[in-house]
Amino acid sequence: MTALRPFIAGLPKAELHVHHVGSASPRIVAELAARHPDSKVPTDPEALVDYFVFTDFAHFIDVYLSVVDLIRTPEDVRLLTFEVARDMARQNIRYAELTVTPFSSTRRGIDEKAFMDAIEDARRAAEAELGVVLRWIFDIPGEAGLQAAEETCRLAVDLRPDGLVGFGLGGPEIGVPRPQFKPYFDRAIAAGLHSVPHAGETTGPQTIWDALNELRAERIGHGTSAVQDERLLAHLAEHRIPLEVCPTSNIATRAVATLDEHPLRTMVEAGVPVSINSDDPPMFGTDLNTEYEVAARLLELDERGLADLAKQAVEASFLDPAGKTRLRTEIDAYTAAWITR
Ligand SMILES: [Zn+2]
Repeated sequence: MTALRPFIAGLPKAELHVHHVGSASPRIVAELAARHPDSKVPTDPEALVDYFVFTDFAHFIDVYLSVVDLIRTPEDVRLLTFEVARDMARQNIRYAELTVTPFSSTRRGIDEKAFMDAIEDARRAAEAELGVVLRWIFDIPGEAGLQAAEETCRLAVDLRPDGLVGFGLGGPEIGVPRPQFKPYFDRAIAAGLHSVPHAGETTGPQTIWDALNELRAERIGHGTSAVQDERLLAHLAEHRIPLEVCPTSNIATRAVATLDEHPLRTMVEAGVPVSINSDDPPMFGTDLNTEYEVAARLLELDERGLADLAKQAVEASFLDPAGKTRLRTEIDAYTAAWITR
């Protein structure tokens, strides 16, 4: 723990890149696993900590999907969603765009309308009871191919829940080229959703160009390999296209070898807007506060620098202008009170 930890803990924050199922804490996963005893997921929270140690990105996907398999009923969905918001409230996360993969649930037989009702019910309860504003990004699980893309697009456009703001693309990048998803992004964008695909996490900068040119990305999930292409960095900076950076995730999936080699600083020095995020926090043994500590170390930030970083996330969010102003004002008031205390 660093000296900045108490400041970070109380800092009002927005999180833009965090996955629904991937946010399930060991306690929740253990509870779900106990409810579904045919699953291979351990039911003991202690054993889950070992279960969540990954050897590589493919292994991470395997573990992730085994947890996805525990979400089988609308009650599972609602419980998970509300509990994730509770963990956010504990960290003073005030606003989050949660990436949800509805295809993973509907193909397992959860009724699609019941699924939407479950997340919306949890969203309203989280806002009323916990003060956490949730919005959704529906993402295509890339490994499931074009059928998943079609289904995700249909769910997003036809059943659009009130909290839905964005359309994404996750899963493995290797062997899953981005351009094939263009028709689905075109439809989602035409319906008023923002384009926020993952790109350049485990593949090179061309994947990010594809996300920009083919999928009309407004933000890039990870974008780690952008630093290999100076022209791309300049493009992201000029067009103010933020990268959603998740440092600990990049180490856990071996996308980056060590934290000291993380390209966050290069991105910032190139003028690219960044937000700091936790991705799949319990699975990576982290949370958003820890990611802010990591960022403070990599960027040599003090309290004011951290407040600026938090405001960059607000700026990069899809909150309405009044909501952005409110959250920025909260961050400034908190920081001023902290510094003059
Ligand atoms: Zn992600």
